Amino acid sequence: MGYKHLGFPKGAKFLVTGSAGFIGSNLVEALLKLGYQVRGLDNLSTGKKENVNEFVDNPNYEFIEGDICELDICLKACEGIDYVLHQAAWGSVPRSIEMPLFYEEVNIKGTLNMMEAAKQNGVKKFVYASSSSVYGDEPNLPKKEGREGNLLSPYALTKMVDEEYGKLYTKLYGLDTYGLRYFNVFGRRQNPEGAYAAVIPKFIKQLLNNEQPIINGDGKQSRDFTYIENVIEANLKACIASHEAAGKAYNIAYGGREYLIDIYDGLCKALGKDIKAIFGPERKGDIKHSNADISKAKEMLEYEPEWSFERGIIEAIEWYKQNL
Ligand code: NAD
Repeated sequence: MGYKHLGFPKGAKFLVTGSAGFIGSNLVEALLKLGYQVRGLDNLSTGKKENVNEFVDNPNYEFIEGDICELDICLKACEGIDYVLHQAAWGSVPRSIEMPLFYEEVNIKGTLNMMEAAKQNGVKKFVYASSSSVYGDEPNLPKKEGREGNLLSPYALTKMVDEEYGKLYTKLYGLDTYGLRYFNVFGRRQNPEGAYAAVIPKFIKQLLNNEQPIINGDGKQSRDFTYIENVIEANLKACIASHEAAGKAYNIAYGGREYLIDIYDGLCKALGKDIKAIFGPERKGDIKHSNADISKAKEMLEYEPEWSFERGIIEAIEWYKQNL
């Protein structure tokens, strides 16, 4: 269970791209706590230096400020690296609908640069962030690998193309790649700011400031909200997975289903607030319901998520109370 017992060889060196972002900075923190060497790569476009400031004095930590769209930087970042955890990308479905060319550049070209750099440097495992958005308009629940529908956004397309490159790099060049289809991750350091912020940190911040949050749609949409600790586990388990499990993509979630309106009510209760939400229009590119079948990751990666939504949300609320 969990990931803390996993033993990597002494001196194992990890590269985390997107290391100043939400998921990346949590991966850096977990790896440093376990005593491994970590190099972070981030261009600080959506990530923040303060997410990684606390690690700068750690002798096992090194940071490169740079862009994955530049192959030279990716090559340099992969030098001497055993495991790549590639998280750098632009997120948000609605923003990708507004700027598809930019998403193509960062999420596809940047990921291809990283795979190429990992290949040229003889990296052992290349684990990368995909997304549940690749299921598109497929209505059946739970979402299962191999049962994808029509894509609904440029963001989803970029992740699908990344998965195809992942398959090819394993097949053609022998680079062991593992795509992790994250489902609505939440937890400490997730950015609550801006029009494209994820709902949980955004609602918590607005409620703490006594503002009235806007719920897009009727609030009856459901998601498989996944606590960050489960995502860390999936990344580290993928690093020790077999070659047979490479060249594939896996659902990474808890396997639960939470309704937005219930989450909102729960947050109000936990924060002692009696604030009515405003109901706004549905967002383009959004799907109504999503929940994951995680049996493939359980079987092939030995992924055993320990953190239920209820357990994770308590920890997340506590962190935001102390840090906002
Ligand atoms: P985030 O925005 O907090 O982190 C992304 C990081 O990548 C940022 O620090 C940003 O500065 C960096 N970055 C962006 N473009 C870059 C570039 N060209 N070069 C170098 N660095 C660059 O997002 P996150 O929530 O931590 O997401 C991490 C990964 O997980 C992304 O690939 C995202 O698509 C994927 N994902 C996240 C979720 C979720 O719920 N958070 C769900 C599905 C998939």
